[in-house]
Amino acid sequence: MREPAVKEFKPSVCPLDCPDTCSLSVGVSDDQVVQVRGSQANPYTAGAICEKVAKYYPAFVHGEYRLTRPLKRVGPRGSGEFEPISWDEALDRIHRGLSRAIDEFGPQSVLPLNYAGPHGQISGGSMDRRFFHQLGASLLDRGPLCGVVRGTAYTSLFGNAPGMPPEQITQADVIAVWGNNVTVSNLHLARVIKSAREKDALLIVVDPKRTRIAEQAHLYIQIKPGTDVVLALGLAAELERLDAFDNRFIERWVEGVDPFMHEARKYTVSDVLGICGINQQQFEQLAEIYAGAKRLALSIGNGIERGHSGGSSLRAIMSLNALTGQLGRVGAGIFAKPGLAFPLTPEKLQRPDLIPAGTRTLNIVDVGRHLLDEHLDPPIKAVFIYNHNPVCTHPDQNRMRRGLGREDLFVVGADIVMTDSMAYADVVLPACSHFEFDDIYAAYGQSYLQRAEPVIPPVGESLPNTEIFRRLAARFGFEDPIFLETDAQLMDAALDADDPRLNGYRPSELALDQALLMNTQDEEAILMCNTVEPATASGKIELYSDELEQGFGYGIPRYEAVESHLPLMLISPSSSKRTNATFGSDAASQLTEMIEIHPDDADARGINDQQRVRLWNELGEVELTARVNDSVAPGVVYSCKGTWLNTSSTGQTVNALISADLKTDIMNGACYNDTYVDCAPLARILHEGNEDQGKFGKQG
Ligand code: SF4
Repeated sequence: MREPAVKEFKPSVCPLDCPDTCSLSVGVSDDQVVQVRGSQANPYTAGAICEKVAKYYPAFVHGEYRLTRPLKRVGPRGSGEFEPISWDEALDRIHRGLSRAIDEFGPQSVLPLNYAGPHGQISGGSMDRRFFHQLGASLLDRGPLCGVVRGTAYTSLFGNAPGMPPEQITQADVIAVWGNNVTVSNLHLARVIKSAREKDALLIVVDPKRTRIAEQAHLYIQIKPGTDVVLALGLAAELERLDAFDNRFIERWVEGVDPFMHEARKYTVSDVLGICGINQQQFEQLAEIYAGAKRLALSIGNGIERGHSGGSSLRAIMSLNALTGQLGRVGAGIFAKPGLAFPLTPEKLQRPDLIPAGTRTLNIVDVGRHLLDEHLDPPIKAVFIYNHNPVCTHPDQNRMRRGLGREDLFVVGADIVMTDSMAYADVVLPACSHFEFDDIYAAYGQSYLQRAEPVIPPVGESLPNTEIFRRLAARFGFEDPIFLETDAQLMDAALDADDPRLNGYRPSELALDQALLMNTQDEEAILMCNTVEPATASGKIELYSDELEQGFGYGIPRYEAVESHLPLMLISPSSSKRTNATFGSDAASQLTEMIEIHPDDADARGINDQQRVRLWNELGEVELTARVNDSVAPGVVYSCKGTWLNTSSTGQTVNALISADLKTDIMNGACYNDTYVDCAPLARILHEGNEDQGKFGKQG
């Protein structure tokens, strides 16, 4: 079908859970989004956007899955049978459902179940947080699903001080991309790397999957998933032997070198080669490049945090820059946490002071287990799902579905489209897409502050999150004026308007056609150990973390292997067709997902290229299409995350195979990549049966 002609282009910002936060130019015709392309407002993203946003956003906003009216459930949970109701009736039902839980079990029996749908400051967490804090609902620790392990690994070393902005990587002579599928998950970094390479920078890529960026690398190391900490510790020991440490830098800026090196020296080169599955020549070449680098820029992805030793791996890899003095000058640094440069004021925006003393906090990764826990005190009796699709994104999908399927649970959902999670709700609220409301955007992969206004009116009867929770607060009789604040007032509460970088403007007044660069407050470029100093207790980079020692017993990074009786390790990173599960409803994502498998593993199982296969373990089973190639090593299989349930005839996705009980070394994060499975051609399974099948339904 031909798209209608664009009548007008309007500025906007991409709100998706992606580090780049592109500025957009949105083609609109008769209140419809008909085209989405990049704009020049943000100099970093500079007109380029990913294909998925350009291709799938218009149908996401106006397509058949779009929610346009409040709904009530009329069929079994998860069946997707609903009838339209009015907003008044929807709010009444929510008020009744939450009040019933509160009257019988107390306010902590209510759980908000939200994550990072939109990344705008006010749609991501403002009036909603105020509402649940005032209600006294259980608190949710969201970071363990993704992000907090990486973030804490960084702040354990550097404190809450921003790392290197990506643009500075163009000045590096060595770029180490470690566990970051740049072209899929960090698109504009690919352009930065290209520019550095045109000036003869060397590119190192360490990744279990030979990604597109790995194919361009001077040195590609195909590491066994989850063993990065061993490579980094072994490399530290090797660099010490090569006399490649920068002792002057260490003297001025680094603490904890002795205990760190004590752990590092435990690994011989042959240990590293054996554990990481790499060869000696690669290891020597890696050490040689690190030792000879003048300005080494490190880009470190979220993939690394998704394994049991993830926190240790991230800390050990980042420590290499400290030991070799690769910080403090343009081009030498760690591209991480540039978002710490934004003057955000979450206390003013989200009002944690409203939280009743003693309110419990539940780890988001454990929600499925808690929903089924008869001894949890108080039990969870009502769940409010928004900005999130837990069925498609959490580990242990079957357990989450059994939890959400409880008939005695009251489930509210709010989303832009009907998702596999919304299908479990008693009441579904239609939420506006970000094209339909005001918001202000910081970023976690670049340093520009941006604001956006609606480009179209709300579709159907949908409402912005802020208005949904404003109306709910009124329905619950919350009389404090903070529950009446407008979106402009909320934007003004999101950032410190007195920060000199805002040039005297209130956040809600920032220009739409410009992005504001967050340099230091003195308008100097951010340079760790130069214009910015580590914000740790010691004022130095702390290779030993007392806090992580007290909290988790990992003051120093260390490796712990995860074993299994099953032969294949499944890694499930991002897809180029989806951002997490967003756009999973698009036709392009509604096909059977691919699994990449090495020819040795395929031959051993009689699997041919493009053949349907089943992948299973004790938690579940998924149908996928095999792509036989050597982009992964023997023993490793790769399939993208974020598919929806109808892509597999088993009604499960790869998230059904991932344990929610195994946690990362620090911060109790999800271990998506410590997943062991086996795999066989679908035809053979149907013919012979499979004794592991069917077990998934019985797990508690
Ligand atoms: S998903 Fe990322 S790369 Fe794509 S448009 Fe949004 S911010 Fe840009």
